[in-house]
Amino acid sequence: MTAVWNLPDFDDHEGIHIFRDRESGLTAIIAVHSTALGPAAGGTRFWHYSDPAAAIIDALRLSRGMSYKNAMAGLPMGGGKAVILSDSQGNKSDAMVEAFAKSVDSLGGRYVTAQDVGMSADDMIAISKVTRHVCGLPAAADQAGGDPGPSTALGVFLGVKAAIKRALGKDSAKGVHVAIQGIGSVGGGLARLLAADGARLTLADRNGAHATSLALELGAHVVATDEIMSVAAEIFSPCALGAILDETSISALKVAAVAGGANNQLAVPADGDRLNARGILYAPDYVINAGGIINVGVEYLKLGDRKSVEARVAGIPDRLHQIWDESAASGDNPAKVADRMAQAMIGRRN
Ligand code: NAD
Repeated sequence: MTAVWNLPDFDDHEGIHIFRDRESGLTAIIAVHSTALGPAAGGTRFWHYSDPAAAIIDALRLSRGMSYKNAMAGLPMGGGKAVILSDSQGNKSDAMVEAFAKSVDSLGGRYVTAQDVGMSADDMIAISKVTRHVCGLPAAADQAGGDPGPSTALGVFLGVKAAIKRALGKDSAKGVHVAIQGIGSVGGGLARLLAADGARLTLADRNGAHATSLALELGAHVVATDEIMSVAAEIFSPCALGAILDETSISALKVAAVAGGANNQLAVPADGDRLNARGILYAPDYVINAGGIINVGVEYLKLGDRKSVEARVAGIPDRLHQIWDESAASGDNPAKVADRMAQAMIGRRN
């Protein structure tokens, strides 16, 4: 058996906390990667793992990712992540959520939770009855809060415009062809913002009826989900799944840049080099999609209202240009450059 600290994803985590509550059936892991910049913030994932050991690896990987994301977003927050182990039926009870909230509270604010896959906005409200170290709650008067999706979409929109500027030398999205994969909370918001800016859109979604109705509303074109990554466009914007950029899909891309909101877009780190080798500009996922964490960070730290969130989200293009400048100077791909910058910000070196 491999010791946790010998796992490749351990990366000197400050703490890995395991909680069990026999009565409610809770088994949870809270991984705190770094509190160098502030409380470790990151969502809670409720997920069934056929091998429970995979839950620890997931928590470690996601928690380190949050350290990088929060640092690059300019937030005074560190990185952490929680995983609640679900049974194969996905049974989640009020008692389990309450026991989890007590676990979060026991860390005294070193870890701040938020919504992630398998957890709902109502779960966050339930958690807030037990601990104050939770965000993603309905907005109080003159404070940020609520669904982070629109802030993520805004940040991705500004990031796509930065990619248009960098790769095509254009100041606006007018007439630029953008292919969007997934038109849910983030991709749908992005599509509306781009359409208002005059972009030409091609959309694909697993929910074909939804894609057709949004396309009708925005004057966009729809293609099948297995075609969207090979559409001849100027920008490809992944806003659905992770790990979609691999050797095969990258060789089929017919765009000048990839800029979208999905998490963990590169299947393996070498895919960043593959994009670079093809001369395709890449906007590192955790930098361009930071609008949501900015929303919840400003809420938790009480840094202001919706306008304060928007002002911080407006910094995303500058961060991307900084990465692209450094990438051009060093020859390293933008994903690698972003990781290096984030590591320096939190005082880590790999
Ligand atoms: P969502 O569930 O609202 O939307 C996802 C959309 O993708 C759905 O419409 C779904 O039908 C579609 N989809 C699923 N599989 C597809 C496929 N194979 N091809 C095409 N479409 C497919 O989710 P969301 O909140 O919009 O998040 C989208 C991505 O952005 C995820 O990777 C998420 O982790 C990431 N993200 C979201 C936020 C946020 O604030 N919501 C923040 C950061 C990152």
